[in-house]
Amino acid sequence: MKKTQLELMRQHMVEMQLKRRGIRDKKILDAFAKVPRHRFVNRFQRRFAYEDHPLPIGSGQTISQPYIVALMSEALNLEGGKKVLEIGTGSGYQTAILAEIAGEVFTVENISKLQAQAKGTLDDIGYDNITFIEGDGKKGYSESAPYDAILVTAAAKKIPKDLYEQLEEGGIMVIPLGGMFMQSLYRIEKRDGSYDKHDLGGVRFVPLR
Ligand code: SAH
Repeated sequence: MKKTQLELMRQHMVEMQLKRRGIRDKKILDAFAKVPRHRFVNRFQRRFAYEDHPLPIGSGQTISQPYIVALMSEALNLEGGKKVLEIGTGSGYQTAILAEIAGEVFTVENISKLQAQAKGTLDDIGYDNITFIEGDGKKGYSESAPYDAILVTAAAKKIPKDLYEQLEEGGIMVIPLGGMFMQSLYRIEKRDGSYDKHDLGGVRFVPLR
């Protein structure tokens, strides 16, 4: 497919899937208009990269639907200079969106093959503000804590304790909570040893293992 064709599909995605559904933050819309989503899927999926649904990325995992990536990114209240921890690197697409908006991104993945692929793509595009960690995301990455924002891109039964502890006071965590079939996306704001919890709607993610 030609570059211009891919660019048109990307613009169309921003208009129809994001703006029309209420994504307003200019930083988010600009990031989606810029990041080449087709480079985060294999060549057989490339033609579907800008469609309104998730896609398989191998090892039984998926790259989330563009709108869901936008909704989660917007809920994190990011801006330049902020430090964000992502759990579940997967294809690295969400990582790229975060790296466009935040100051520094730390991303954890426990399937080495996916991590190597994602790192290859992101290095190739030229991001220099991403740190890749291989390990169990439920433990977070205490070495660089606390984080202004934490994004979990796989569904958990409850908020992992280590992740809550690694969140800055006043910081925001976005996490899908629930079982295999019924999940809601939550925006958690850490406050005085507890948190405020806001339901962003029903979603379906692969489980946090
Ligand atoms: N943000 C990704 C979506 C990835 S799907 C993207 O845009 O492509 C969720 C990812 O979480 C998968 O890659 C899966 O391997 C990873 N994952 C699941 N449980 C994990 C855990 N305990 N630790 C680290 N990564 C985990």
